[in-house]
Amino acid sequence: MRLPSVDGDATPPTLTRSRYNYFARRGDRWIGYNARVGTIALLAKDVAEALQGDGPPSEIRGVDELVDLGFLHFSDELDQIFATYDAARNTSALHLTIAPTLECNFACPYCFQNSYRNNRSMSPEVQRATLAFVGARIAEGRRDVVLDWYGGEPLLAKDIVLAMTPDIRREVEGAGGTLEQVRIVTNGSLLDASTSKELRDVGVSCAQVSLDALQYVEGEKRGALGTNGDLSPILANAIEAAKFLDVTLRINVSAENKNDIPSIIAVLRTHGLARRYYLARVDDFANESSSVRRQTGSPAAVRSRLHLPIVQVTSGTRPGTQYEDQSASSNKRQSVGPRRTIARGMYAKMEQDILAQPETFQQLLNKLTPKKHFCSATSGAMFVIDADGDISRCWESAGVKSDAIGNVLAGDQWRKEKSVDAKWAAYHPLAYSACASCRVLPLCMGGCSYPRVIMDATNPECTSIKRQIEFCVDQVAKRLNLP
Ligand code: SF4
Ligand code: SF4
Repeated sequence: MRLPSVDGDATPPTLTRSRYNYFARRGDRWIGYNARVGTIALLAKDVAEALQGDGPPSEIRGVDELVDLGFLHFSDELDQIFATYDAARNTSALHLTIAPTLECNFACPYCFQNSYRNNRSMSPEVQRATLAFVGARIAEGRRDVVLDWYGGEPLLAKDIVLAMTPDIRREVEGAGGTLEQVRIVTNGSLLDASTSKELRDVGVSCAQVSLDALQYVEGEKRGALGTNGDLSPILANAIEAAKFLDVTLRINVSAENKNDIPSIIAVLRTHGLARRYYLARVDDFANESSSVRRQTGSPAAVRSRLHLPIVQVTSGTRPGTQYEDQSASSNKRQSVGPRRTIARGMYAKMEQDILAQPETFQQLLNKLTPKKHFCSATSGAMFVIDADGDISRCWESAGVKSDAIGNVLAGDQWRKEKSVDAKWAAYHPLAYSACASCRVLPLCMGGCSYPRVIMDATNPECTSIKRQIEFCVDQVAKRLNLP
């Protein structure tokens, strides 16, 4: 057995079973999966049983290999996850999200932007300042760039998207960076064939189109079918767009459409889109978050050496923080409403049924791939720039003045002196006892951080993998052709 090196008089670390091990049995064979390393391994019966037992780990056959695969470990696994999270807060990546307008031609009742939507689009002055901001970030060393066009509905400002995409590429490349990918998030209503071709010609390669109903209702429901049972304009566009762009279809799942999901998927299958869709639960941060108590005493010992405050859920709850009215006409954030969301357990089960289909095997594997951060908002790489030039860290913050960390119009002085950026930088999923003790932490990394950072929420935004992990491992075992 190989022992790790130890400095001076320090106590040698003890060999321990990983808390992130999962097992699935197939006859005499066992599949082992470790969520921290992301390994899937065929294990001999005696090894699998010993890993699940409580005998001395050092007596398990093949210790060195099991350490490499993550099933056993010497040091603190949370330290290792902490190190991975910190190392991924890099300064070489730039994830730009630009909302050229917050205007939208649909009025989805659950949209988190409804309370501060406006019809402004990015002025030439803001466009120039955005390009200068991008150039300055590249000059700082953020060379690997991804650009997402976002809104509102970004195709209501199509001219800006078409003009700025090559401008941004020139700015990035002129400053020594690489524009690796350009994507667009759209409701699809304006994504016809000629627009898709125009987008492709300026370098956009991917489009995410959202659906939220079976029946299409102009301006209200992003349905898959039109009134006569033919394709809705959105789905017809998506099919045409797929000739030019890599199109993915996001199906927003709410209490209102939950019974229609199988029918929506059936339509997608009929039209050859079976491998392009995925489900996403409509969240309601305002109602699902909770009160906060930052605790610095015991059990902070759990993470005390990481110098992190431990945040625990209190027994009493209060409604989630609402945004203060920042102007008479806008910026008042509304709750999506508990009647529009479905319970996390119900959603996880629904998604699980989808994951049982062969067409979603890649999604299943993606779920079992360890993450460094849940999204770019916490990595420090993401800058969301809205039509007013306000810069924020998160897609939820586009158009929300109080979430802004600066404005591109301020040039070199873009960063607000006092901003929420310090809260984003201070956020760490391991500071929350629910996450630090969670057995799917490496796959979830604390979920969406927005409610914790901006709303002081304490209820974890648990992703569905928490309820599906055993199922997913079992599915992988089922689909592997065991020798
Ligand atoms: S923090 Fe949450 S809402 Fe914000 S960009 Fe990340 S996943 Fe989206
Ligand atoms: S948010 Fe929930 S599922 Fe994710 S790591 Fe935290 S406790 Fe686990």
